[in-house]
Amino acid sequence: MKRKPLVVANWKMHGQSKWIENYIHDLTKPQGQSGQCEIVLCPPFVYLNEVRSLLQETGMGLGAQDLHDSEHGAFTGEISPHMLLDVGCKYVVVGHSERRRLLGETDDFVAAKFAAACRNALIPILCVGENEGEREAGVTESVVRRQLDAVLQVCGNEAFAAAVIAYEPVWAIGTGVTATPAQAQDVHGFIRNYIASHSSASAMRILYGGSVKADNAVMLAQQQDVDGALVGGASLIVKDFLAICAGFSK
Ligand code: PEP
Repeated sequence: MKRKPLVVANWKMHGQSKWIENYIHDLTKPQGQSGQCEIVLCPPFVYLNEVRSLLQETGMGLGAQDLHDSEHGAFTGEISPHMLLDVGCKYVVVGHSERRRLLGETDDFVAAKFAAACRNALIPILCVGENEGEREAGVTESVVRRQLDAVLQVCGNEAFAAAVIAYEPVWAIGTGVTATPAQAQDVHGFIRNYIASHSSASAMRILYGGSVKADNAVMLAQQQDVDGALVGGASLIVKDFLAICAGFSK
């Protein structure tokens, strides 16, 4: 099945108003746009509204980097799914490894966030992936299976019907070391088969993330089960991000 590639910019904790204005101006110049690839920007929460305004009529989408699993309540500093919808988000990243590792997010908490996104008509981009020690120990598949199972248990077999999965090996994030296209395909193929054993997975997009750059995007894009990319560092430079989008548009 043909799946429209999706390339997502995860700006993390980068960007301020003037930078954002210049970035989106450069990104949306006519020659920069490609209808063959869906492009989504995930700025920090406080700039979602601003980015939404600047993206109007561009065909590019808006996503958030995280959400809380409650619709409202006494959760100081947190952002609810309702708020994300209200400012025009379509997507939300869930379970990024930086949040799992640095902020102690467990599989169960990530699954609760995933469920909250689905309940509120946001498309979750679920990040899964092994760390270096786990890859060396040969347990990549069981780690990824455990992360997927947590969501399947909470959301049921149809959990991934409208979701996106991002395979992000932790050892490749921000390190400059990318998984080889074959390594990425192996895990993407495993994920698709595993989800297919619960429900249909042929339309589900599986993104690769971890030091994606202009010069490795094309090879990654050629892999059968790689349907796009979640891009951190390289998404901060418009020229590089556009080159990655072009790589996935072929
Ligand atoms: C990420 O943080 O999701 C990511 C893939 O980062 P980078 O592209 O910088 O490795």
